[in-house]
Formats: sequence, C-alpha cells, structure tokens
Amino acid sequence: MTNEPEILTGIVLHGAHGIYDVHTESGIVRCTLRGKLKKAFAQAQSARSIQKARPRFDKLLATPNGRHVERIEKRDSSENPLPSRLSVGDYVKFRRLDEESGLIEEILPRQSELARKDVGSNAHKSIQQTMLANLDQVVIVFASAQPDPHFGLLDRYLTICTSAELQAIIVINKVDLPHDSSVEEASELYARLGYIVLRASTYTHQGIDEIRELLKNHITLFTGPSGVGKSSLVNAIEPGMAIRTGLISDVTGKGKHTTTSSQLYPLSGGGWLADSAGIRALTAWNIPPEELAFCFVEFRPYLGECEYADCVHIDEEGCAITQAVQDNVIDEHRYRSYVRIYQGEER
Ligand code: GDP
Ligand code: ZN
Repeated sequence: MTNEPEILTGIVLHGAHGIYDVHTESGIVRCTLRGKLKKAFAQAQSARSIQKARPRFDKLLATPNGRHVERIEKRDSSENPLPSRLSVGDYVKFRRLDEESGLIEEILPRQSELARKDVGSNAHKSIQQTMLANLDQVVIVFASAQPDPHFGLLDRYLTICTSAELQAIIVINKVDLPHDSSVEEASELYARLGYIVLRASTYTHQGIDEIRELLKNHITLFTGPSGVGKSSLVNAIEPGMAIRTGLISDVTGKGKHTTTSSQLYPLSGGGWLADSAGIRALTAWNIPPEELAFCFVEFRPYLGECEYADCVHIDEEGCAITQAVQDNVIDEHRYRSYVRIYQGEER
C-alpha cells in the first residue's frame, strides 16, 4: 500500500514569522511554506514592484431599478499575477504532515487584494504591501446622529472601495436617535447611485438580520469613524466577535492594537470578518487622479463628453460634469467631495 500525501485546500486566517494558520473543513492546521515557494517569493519580490491589476469597472453598473450594484464580477484569475508573498485571505494547497501541521505547496490565484503603499515608497518606486487577499466587501458604518454623519468622508470610503473593486455596503446606525432630515435624503441619494444602504440600530435590533445575511459567505471588513457603533454592530451580529477582532481591546475598551497584520474570523453563518488592522490599510489607499472620476459612479455617463480630452472636471470650460452639476443631474455635495479628494484633502 502506498502512502499518498494528503493534500488539503484552506484559507490563511493569520500569519506571523513564517507560520500560517490555515482553516480547512476539518479544523485549523499550522503551516509553513515549502522551501521552493519561499525561494520563488524572494525572486518575485526582487524582480518587480507589484502591479495592481486594473479594475474592471465595466462590471460595476447599477441595476435598472437603481436599488443596488450587481456584485462585482470576479476577475478571470489567469489575468492576475502570482502573489509574491502569502497574505491573510489567500487560499492555499498544503500537504498535511500530521494532525496539526502542514507544508504549503501552492497559493491559489487571488480574486482581489487590499494593498497599501509601503513605507519606503517614493515617486520612482512604489512598493505595495498586501494586507488582505480575497476581501470582497466593506461595510461602511456611519451614525444618523452622535456623531453626525460626515458624507464627505463616506464619499472617500466609497471611492476607495470602487477603486479596489470591493462591494460597499453603507450602514446608517443609531436610527433610533432623532436625526436631521438630511440623513434620510442622503441615504436615498446613495441608494439611487446603486449602493446598498441599510438603516440599523443596535438598540432596537433594526437591520441586524439583514447585515448578517449580507455577510454570509463573504470576506468583509467593517470600517467607519469611531463612536458610530461598529463594535456594537459586530457584537449584535456575532456576540463576542468585537473583542476578538480588536474592535474593542479588553483593557481600555477602545480598539487600539498595534499589530499591522490582519486576521480573519469565522462568522457562524459562513464567511469571514477581517479585523481592524485592515481598516487602517483602507484609509491609506491612494486613488490615482485619472481613476477618481470613474469612481464617482454618476459621473460615468459624462466621461469623454468634456470639451478637452484631459479635462479633470475642476474649472475647465466645456466640462460635461460641471454642466451636469449645474443642471442638478449630479448632486452638488458629491461633486464637492470629488473636488476635495482630487485636491488631496483628507476630508
Ligand atoms: P465604535 O467606536 O464605532 O466601535 O462604536 P461603539 O460600538 O463603541 O459605540 C459607541 C457608542 O454608541 C456607545 O456608547 C454605544 O452604546 C452607542 N451605540 C451603539 N449603537 C447604537 C445605536 O444603535 N443607537 C444608539 N442610540 N446608540 C448606539
Ligand atoms: Zn470635465
């Protein structure tokens, strides 16, 4: 009888110092990289700076009823370069050594990645560090009041998500509190633009089941300003999870852990939640200026219609975008967000 090695497939939940926790159907296995793979990674890293695959914006179109964006279609995996290092979220094939340990033989192609520019990047050399692989959606949480929502910041999150090909789900939490009518108007605007917008309250439990349903079988990151109720929401969806994900630290009650490597946590309904280390990575994402206008979904029909081909839609003559703003077809607040982000202002 030959003793065939057992080859398993799993997802990397956590990695540190060359040791990776890989989740499989039969439990978590502690893996290291096969020597051959380590060598290949080292070569790939020195051979080229990592290229981000271009987003396939054509797939990101609002459905005719305007209620939600169709799920961004997965890229043809063969287009993607082989990762040059292993990240949390990567699917791997590994050889089981014993009950608890294994040797990673192969990384499967990534469907998406969340990367940030590494320290040491400059105008000539851009080093990208992948924080999370295969992340596919981001829940952006704002409060209807306390603190008042900052829609300029929401627009910034949305452009980052669109640029990174991540499905954005907007959650307006604390709807049990009295709030300004502008909040309702804004949530209708974002729904019209094709984003999923949910109203929620951890106090009345409104919206919680819907959010839980949307997380099923996805790899999701929760983000948003502090105090909007992210940890309360995560706890309502999956009790105990907020502490584990670092949204709350046990000691201070406020999420402040210093590790930069992300981690995935299983949701009992299926799917994964990415932890807060990835949240910081998201705000560090820079959108190239030539891509920015495309990330404002309502600008798309007008792109290419401006008088000047290199129009950046700020104060050029014959600009189709500013004309649409004047005609009240494009919302003025959204346009102002575009200008602020274009000019490099953080908020
Ligand atoms: P985080 O900083 O985004 O994680 O926010 P927390 O979950 O720590 O919540 C901040 C504060 O908002 C806490 O005092 C919560 O009790 C409160 N809070 C959370 N969810 C709600 C809600 O749905 N309604 C109201 N009125 N308050 C909430
Ligand atoms: Zn223009």
